Amino acid sequence: MVNNGAAALVLATTALAAGREVVVSRGELVEIGAGFRLTDLMESTGATLREVGTTNRTHLHDYAGALGPDTGCVLKVHPSNFRVDGFTSAVPLDELSRLTVANGVPLVADLGSGLLVPDPFLPDEPDVSSALVSGADVVIASGDKLLGGPQAGILLGRREIITRLARHPLARAVRADKLALAALEATVAGGPPPVVQALHADVGQLRRRTDKLAQALDVPVVPHDGRVGGGGAPGVPLPGWALRLPEGLARHLRAGDPAVLPRVHDGSCLIDLRCVPEKDDVRILGAIRQAVAALDAAGSAG
Ligand SMILES: *Cc1c(COP(=O)(O)O)cnc(C)c1O
Repeated sequence: MVNNGAAALVLATTALAAGREVVVSRGELVEIGAGFRLTDLMESTGATLREVGTTNRTHLHDYAGALGPDTGCVLKVHPSNFRVDGFTSAVPLDELSRLTVANGVPLVADLGSGLLVPDPFLPDEPDVSSALVSGADVVIASGDKLLGGPQAGILLGRREIITRLARHPLARAVRADKLALAALEATVAGGPPPVVQALHADVGQLRRRTDKLAQALDVPVVPHDGRVGGGGAPGVPLPGWALRLPEGLARHLRAGDPAVLPRVHDGSCLIDLRCVPEKDDVRILGAIRQAVAALDAAGSAG
């Protein structure tokens, strides 16, 4: 475990490919949050990117043609924050693994979001266990996306390679501190963390909670899709419900105490309880009442 996913990728590419080539598909040259490009990160390690395939299609023979004495590793990056639809094709890890094993080259899979096992709610999101079973030598995942833990980069894989990475001098510079280690342990050994609870929230239960607030406030309930956010499962809708309030309430909710951050959409102020613990529903109700009062006061003053 290291500081974050970016550090994990830097450590893996430095230890396996500094001064040599990282073979990667042109469809997987990803920019993550705040303008950071994985390509720049990897090149900063002294590795050369050997791009193969095209934006929409990469085939096994593209990888095969690029392997040679200069290959440090083959990297597969999960495009965790965008989607390419249409005429597309990518090489699954198990096929790629047969090629890399035959050539004696390590295969690194950067999954980004850190699901440990498949999740039926996110059918297209890759998970660490399946990637290892498919033959990745090293799997990289972030601790604070779908895993729901602290900021951390997690490297799992074949013992020889993980040992090699752990012994690399850079490992010391990117090692995780004890608070992050403790938080990660609590995340995987404790009950489901908030991200997982919100992702798996029961839709019927959400409806009952939303109806209760709607009746108390005399406002409508509308269907509302949630999103995972934070660099995982882009575009996957999570069906649910929202209270529909007048748009003008939004700024009073944000400025209130407790502050409530609603979604402003299509002329409405929407409140989706998916990520609110049920015990806080009553506080949300109080905050909305306060915001209504503030809006009324502003209206009569103006
Ligand atoms: C988010 C992400 C990273 C970086 O992880 P951090 O923990 O945010 O540094 C690396 N690769 C992929 C594919 C990602 O989605």
